[in-house]
Amino acid sequence: MSDCVFCSIVSGQIPTTFLYEDEEIVAFRDINPRAPVHILIIPKKHIPSLAQTSEEDLALLGRMCLVVRQLAEKEGIRLGIFRPITLWPFPYEALGKIGERGKPILTVEMSLGQLVEDIRLSVLGKAPVHLLGHCGGVIPSEEEVFAEAKKILGK
Ligand SMILES: [Zn+2]
Repeated sequence: MSDCVFCSIVSGQIPTTFLYEDEEIVAFRDINPRAPVHILIIPKKHIPSLAQTSEEDLALLGRMCLVVRQLAEKEGIRLGIFRPITLWPFPYEALGKIGERGKPILTVEMSLGQLVEDIRLSVLGKAPVHLLGHCGGVIPSEEEVFAEAKKILGK
């Protein structure tokens, strides 16, 4: 799309230094950072919004999550990502094993705490569980997740 700033960045019309690039994804620093670390990770394919993704984008979206973690590690933030495949039955056992490590868990959800209570039940107080949630269909951004992770980790 010619009027899309992200497509202009991907095509090189807007010169940008990429922190990461593969055949489907690029990552770069925001020119107006709103957090100490503000990196944008975007698909090369024009996708207007998360609401306009489909089943065929699942692998791409999953790979973008991995790039988030890799870039966070490069910035000195060690993150793990747990994405449940199903919520019924709820993965209490798998999450319980993660809780055994005692490391902080950040629950990111598009609600004000529907999932976080089940995460707390899974870890049974063995790890602190934090919530980053929005309602009204607002998707938590990667800069919010970075900022919250840094706050929790005291960085
Ligand atoms: Zn675009």
